[in-house]
Amino acid sequence: MSDSPERIKCLIIGSGPAGYTAAIYAARADLKPVLITGMEMGGQLTTTTEVENYPGYPEGIQGPEMMEEFKKQAERFGTDIRIAYVSKTELSTEKGGWHKITVNDNEIIEAQAVIIATGASAKYLGLDSEKRLMGHGVSACAVCDGFFFKGQETIIVGGGDSACEEASYLSKLCPKVTMLVRGDEMRASKIMQERVEKKENIEILYNTETVEVLGEGTVTGARVRNRKTGEEMDIPAQGFFVAIGHKPNTDIFKGQIDMDKVGYIKAVPGTSKTNLPGVFATGDAQDKHYRQAVTAAGSGCMGALDAEKYLAEHAE
Ligand code: NDP
Repeated sequence: MSDSPERIKCLIIGSGPAGYTAAIYAARADLKPVLITGMEMGGQLTTTTEVENYPGYPEGIQGPEMMEEFKKQAERFGTDIRIAYVSKTELSTEKGGWHKITVNDNEIIEAQAVIIATGASAKYLGLDSEKRLMGHGVSACAVCDGFFFKGQETIIVGGGDSACEEASYLSKLCPKVTMLVRGDEMRASKIMQERVEKKENIEILYNTETVEVLGEGTVTGARVRNRKTGEEMDIPAQGFFVAIGHKPNTDIFKGQIDMDKVGYIKAVPGTSKTNLPGVFATGDAQDKHYRQAVTAAGSGCMGALDAEKYLAEHAE
């Protein structure tokens, strides 16, 4: 075996909707992409159940099954999908330069174009009951799963803009939404706070934390505690939404590429281009606003088209 590293045109990091869509486009453009799946193959959608808002599936589809279809489609055009993780990156700052990517701690791949599609992870409270009921009433995305709770009562945890936005969304579907804010005020912008305060069917409980999500097979409510008085009570609900922030999976790129203080990679608006030549950011790793499978997929397509153009101009 040769000691020299494998050299390829296009490396895609991540296997959610952004990564697989980038792979479909890159493979069809004959960039011969290699896709490194990461530890959570299929990304966030593999932790959801039914997906009903992705166009093309009029009857809905299970998240893991949908990602399997994405994978098959990427493979059909010859994407080399490797079940592995990226442990280190040394991104070039030169036009036409080779980006050095370490895979599984010991294999080196050098790529002239890198498409980052590492996604983000929703933060959870860390309760055993929350984990157990995930996908059975517990969700971190009201826009994705709120519809399943139409006509039912729901709880949403968090006091940021996302929690307010999602509480407003749920209030249009549910007769009652209880918002649990752990502090004595919200972090959300004033306008977002006012929006939820005005809704008659949203009850906001401040200084309140979740002790346990209740239910055996599915959620039936939550036991909460007032952090000032220590008093506990049970709130009945069928849906339990967590909106306490996301963490982009971009730690391996820290210090090498421009990102905001939370870690979202900065892409030139309207493109997937980053501050580094030949490095393209797609999906939730660069998007803190929309975070939908369909927007991630669209962004993956942009990544591949931008990479294709870049390679045509700068590749060896
Ligand atoms: P934020 O980090 O802004 O807010 C997180 C919220 O969750 C805070 O209220 C925080 O409480 C609470 N929280 C954190 N951990 C826990 C926990 N363990 N238990 C209970 N509560 C907890 O995240 P968002 O996702 O709301 O927003 C992320 C970014 O995206 C922000 O910059 C936001 O402005 C932006 N955004 C903008 C929107 C818009 O403009 N339309 C819509 C959505 C997001 P505490 O305050 O006590 O720390």
